[in-house]
Amino acid sequence: MPVTVLNRVLAGTRPLMSGNEAVARAVWESGAALASAYPGTPSTEILESLALYPDIVAQWGVNEKVALETAIGASLTGARAFCAMKHVGLNVAADALMSQALAGIHGGLVIAVADDVGLSSSQNEQDSRYWGRFAHLPVLEPADAQEAYAFTLAAFALSERFHTLVILRLTTRVCHVKALVATGERQPHASLGFARDPKRWVMLPAHVRGMIPVQIARDAALAAHAEESPLLCELEGDDPSIGIIASGPAALSAREAFPEAPLLKLGLGYPLPIERIRAFAAGVGRLLVVEETEPLVETELRAQGIAVTGKDLLPRYGELSVAVLRGARARLRGEAAPAVAAPIDVFPRPPTMCPGCPHLAPFYCLSRLRGSLLISGDIGCYTLGAGQPWQAMDACTCMGASLTLANGMAVAKTGDDAEKAVVAVIGDSTFLHMGMQGLLNLVYNRANVTVLLLDNRTVGMTGGQEHPGTGFDIHGDPAPRVDFVALVQALGVKAERVHSVDPYDLPGLFKLIRSETAVNDVSVILTNRPCVLTDRHHSRPALGVVEAECTGCGGCLQVGCPAIQVVRRDRVMTPSGREKERAFVTIDSAFCTGCNACVGLCAPKCIQPLAAMSERCEGV
Ligand code: SF4
Ligand code: SF4
Ligand code: SF4
Repeated sequence: MPVTVLNRVLAGTRPLMSGNEAVARAVWESGAALASAYPGTPSTEILESLALYPDIVAQWGVNEKVALETAIGASLTGARAFCAMKHVGLNVAADALMSQALAGIHGGLVIAVADDVGLSSSQNEQDSRYWGRFAHLPVLEPADAQEAYAFTLAAFALSERFHTLVILRLTTRVCHVKALVATGERQPHASLGFARDPKRWVMLPAHVRGMIPVQIARDAALAAHAEESPLLCELEGDDPSIGIIASGPAALSAREAFPEAPLLKLGLGYPLPIERIRAFAAGVGRLLVVEETEPLVETELRAQGIAVTGKDLLPRYGELSVAVLRGARARLRGEAAPAVAAPIDVFPRPPTMCPGCPHLAPFYCLSRLRGSLLISGDIGCYTLGAGQPWQAMDACTCMGASLTLANGMAVAKTGDDAEKAVVAVIGDSTFLHMGMQGLLNLVYNRANVTVLLLDNRTVGMTGGQEHPGTGFDIHGDPAPRVDFVALVQALGVKAERVHSVDPYDLPGLFKLIRSETAVNDVSVILTNRPCVLTDRHHSRPALGVVEAECTGCGGCLQVGCPAIQVVRRDRVMTPSGREKERAFVTIDSAFCTGCNACVGLCAPKCIQPLAAMSERCEGV
């Protein structure tokens, strides 16, 4: 929708918005000058939504540290600035966060951090509320899209009142669930101008030492503010035998599961309003803390001498849904467990790559060679290479770690692994995010590692965002495009060890991986086909199976393309007396992109272009 229309529709109305869209709207209304982010589920849509608004610069950063530092720079000039990332992104940005937290801010600065509670798309389930305690920063915890909007506006006000960065802790449920959100108008926010103050902004030991008492005083002021925060909400209940302290979406679930219980909902989740909680606790029989995921509030209240029930009753991981809390309520009251609707029995559908994905053939090759390889992977769609049918990944830790893990593996492998070649697999966006340093490190340390750099020209896993390797910015406008061949050579990989290949040429790719893993040096094999879900991909005519000629060998299934479907299985005895399972297949022409990756795997050559097939079938 064009921006002008978007504004006319939204201003002063209650549109249906996800929490991510509501945060974006509030950032824009706050008069912020700059917003920066790196894509990551569940926070990606915040910046994508912001890019639709005028009068604010929205930029993808190459990683979360870069994005946060960009926002800090804008804040130093006196402008309001915003930064968004998923929970593990703040680990990457932590260096900047911890130092700037000490210095404070000039223009208001809000960081939205989205926790993937329940691990729908992440490598861990960490609790970003810890960062508030660790970095001495206030943490706001909205429960739904309306609060996501309101708390974002409140976060800018809090940031400027206390001269501090403010963390807006979101969770997947807040980010993605839609609700009607009352919105307002953009309030222009005049820049304060750059305040030249090296003693504050240049973080030399002599300078920052003086900031520590300031930070401690700010902690005390924020704690006093927490006691009277308008974001603190007390809901009455008819039965005070149990009282609840809760925050985020778990507070809504708690209200539904314990409708009779008084509830103190924390909007400002850190610092805690200890005296308000103490008074609340005095008015209830038993105090239950409902918090996702770690027992932070519970631990702090116990340290304050306030008796609570928490993770001794509730799970320490996953969402605290109404069903989970109803079970806890029954246990707490000594009642029979409530009936829970049985989950619908659906056919298991493990995640897989798309039909024609350019990562299929690389992982097919690795799966064939895995007995002679140690394979470290990375974060992206291609992490699915760890699953069926490929099972071609031995380790995957975090963004960019494929190359550095590979370095350690190459140095320390012993025993049966000593003769195995080490392969690191990384995507284009992840390489630019945090992989480049790893490659430099491999070169510098003269490692023996083959790097598969899978360039699909997008951030595939988060829905197809732009990055410096795509040649476009967040608005789709042309931007300088990284030349990966030149980049890896600039990082020190010898020109003869850099190969740019078509991943759909499966035999050629296989041969190349075999030859490069045999060379004692750092090699980079770049694949050069775009993600099939982007407009950069152009499908070719679909293929089909001449089913009368299919021997059921199942060879084509090993490439892992979901367009190839088993239509019949049986078991036969081979001449040597061994029982063999056969899988006869068809290709769903609606999904087949005509990539040809499966063609060479069919010995009887019964995978054919549909057009050629009709001629061949006529002849059968
Ligand atoms: S989104 Fe793109 S990169 Fe990811 S699995 Fe699908 S085709 Fe492959
Ligand atoms: S050609 Fe084969 S591998 Fe490629 S999309 Fe079609 S069925 Fe899948
Ligand atoms: S590789 Fe060919 S013969 Fe074997 S299952 Fe696939 S289509 Fe049939």
